[in-house]
Amino acid sequence: MSDLSTRLIHHPYRPPEGFDAPQAGVFRASTIFFSSVAAMRERYSSKTPGYSYGLHGTPTSHLLEARLCELEGGTQCLLAPSGLAAIALVNLCLLKSGDEVLLPDNVYGPSKALAEGELAKMGVTHRLYDASSTQDLAGKMSPKTALVWAEAPGSVTMEFPDLPDIVRLCRSRGVVCALDNTWGAGLAFAPFDLGDGLGVDVSVHALTKYPSGGGDVLMGSVITRDPALHNRLQMVRRRLGIGVGMNDVETVLRSLPSTALRYRAHDVCARALARWCAGRPEIVQVLHPALAGSPGHAHWQALCGGSANEGPDSGAAAGLFSVIFDPRYSQGQVDAFCDGLKLFRLGYSWGGPVSLVVPYEMRSMREAQPAGVRAGAIVRFSIGLEHVDDLRADLAQAMSAFSAQA
Ligand SMILES: *Cc1c(COP(=O)(O)O)cnc(C)c1O
Repeated sequence: MSDLSTRLIHHPYRPPEGFDAPQAGVFRASTIFFSSVAAMRERYSSKTPGYSYGLHGTPTSHLLEARLCELEGGTQCLLAPSGLAAIALVNLCLLKSGDEVLLPDNVYGPSKALAEGELAKMGVTHRLYDASSTQDLAGKMSPKTALVWAEAPGSVTMEFPDLPDIVRLCRSRGVVCALDNTWGAGLAFAPFDLGDGLGVDVSVHALTKYPSGGGDVLMGSVITRDPALHNRLQMVRRRLGIGVGMNDVETVLRSLPSTALRYRAHDVCARALARWCAGRPEIVQVLHPALAGSPGHAHWQALCGGSANEGPDSGAAAGLFSVIFDPRYSQGQVDAFCDGLKLFRLGYSWGGPVSLVVPYEMRSMREAQPAGVRAGAIVRFSIGLEHVDDLRADLAQAMSAFSAQA
């Protein structure tokens, strides 16, 4: 079974005797019984996996963890109550006072806020590196560097980094490399198998997005291929008292088999609309890693299988892209364009059926105008599962009203 969807659909599950149904049961617990005092004591001191307390997992969460390993190519997985909680867990596990963490300059905003807030309070410093320059990252590494985060592509401005090169550098310096893999979702590329024997040490995934697919569940995962690292992460999760609700786990289990199909549908539709935007006179740049001219396009091609010879929809990408409006339009005019959309709703998060739009302010995200990104108001679209013709018509009507006014 080489196909990922087939493997996820036929992933082993042992149903209760005489009740063999497609969806796994939901096991919820705080208390878990032990058969004897000896078993209780043995469980407490044991290093082998098993059940001890509902917070740490039930067969339902263990099944999702196993299937997420299948999805991303890892060997151990921990669930967290949100993608951001998963990021925090990795930071708290790997960083101590005096350490430094390096973040890409296009990092997911709340991840930077965490570094500026709680990590700083713990005595952990952070620096931003140019996500498009491994040389810049190398120059910012020091003996204090204990963790490097990567994102492929970065949030909002969508620059696609040379991820294998970043991993190679981290490996040569003996620094842990963690990837926020929400965009790739285990589908666009294999985070633990980037070629040349390279892979990230930790992959964090906001399951809130594509695996959930409904815009209705918050969850995150932390996947590794290193049992010792996994055990350290697990201890931190236990000590922090972080767990997930089993009904939420069930929802993700239900959506997981269709993730690859939905991802492809979001991708094909997003690329069609990104190309349409690229042809509009109001827009000076479209930031989508699968489009030539978007920063890091060649790195995306190398990692995600895009090839000009195989057509405009070859390779894999998520349903996200940003556009830069001609600087002659004011922020107010661009905001009015966003307000004028009818199917695209204003909202954060993505990966659900409804298309979303968010106008960002470059000044509040980045210290300097990023290289390779044109100046002008930036708007990010996340493409849902509506028909491409309806979404294109919505963009066209909002754009005509906008151009007439501007
Ligand atoms: C949404 C998102 C997160 C956080 O996920 P939540 O479950 O909303 O906390 C982290 N990283 C990226 C890239 C995201 O898009």
